[in-house]
Amino acid sequence: MRLLWLERAYVPPQPFPLRLSHVLTNQERYRRILANHLPAQAVDHVYNYLNLHKVHFHITRGRTSKLGDYRWPQANHDFHEISINGDLNPYLFLWVFLHEAAHLETHLHHEGVTPHGHEWQSEYARLISTHAGLFPADVQPLLTRLARRIPLKRTLLRQVEALLHHYDPDYTATVHLVLDDLPAGSRFRLKNKPELLFESLERRRTRWLCREVTTGRTYTVAATAEVTKH
Ligand SMILES: [Zn+2]
Repeated sequence: MRLLWLERAYVPPQPFPLRLSHVLTNQERYRRILANHLPAQAVDHVYNYLNLHKVHFHITRGRTSKLGDYRWPQANHDFHEISINGDLNPYLFLWVFLHEAAHLETHLHHEGVTPHGHEWQSEYARLISTHAGLFPADVQPLLTRLARRIPLKRTLLRQVEALLHHYDPDYTATVHLVLDDLPAGSRFRLKNKPELLFESLERRRTRWLCREVTTGRTYTVAATAEVTKH
């Protein structure tokens, strides 16, 4: 395995300039680099996986266009290649790793399928459920729900990502306030629908029953939806 990384990795929130990658030469150094980017409990899993599939693994500077990518082996490129942005917090880094590993698994087990189609989703769901225990306790129930059904629900995927952003080093509840952070009776606006003003009424399982103040209509809103307090 060749593991390439950047000398000065993971110094959020500012993206760092891309530097020439170094080629690592021994296991301990690979593990140490991975440990800078992953939750401690995930290092061995990821290391063993990369080693098993002889993946060329790159940790890159933060890219706005993507969080990671996967390239399958080709004639002039005879190896699996995965890259992941080095400015992600450890849980998001692991999350993106599972996404890319699902592409690798799809390549191994299915032919001629679409990149995020049914087969990829099945592989992804399998990886999510086998790795759920490596994520924080507050994310695990959501992961279990997410992995239970294909097609994967986009709203659940987004909720997982929103929750994982809580582990950003610069995260503060005022920047990424979610509905669950507010007590019942709070007035708020949704980040993605700021024109509506809501009042939260009561929590029901994973959602809040809310009333839109102007029309009086009731809605249920995901407890993890990003909001601004009014
Ligand atoms: Zn993808």
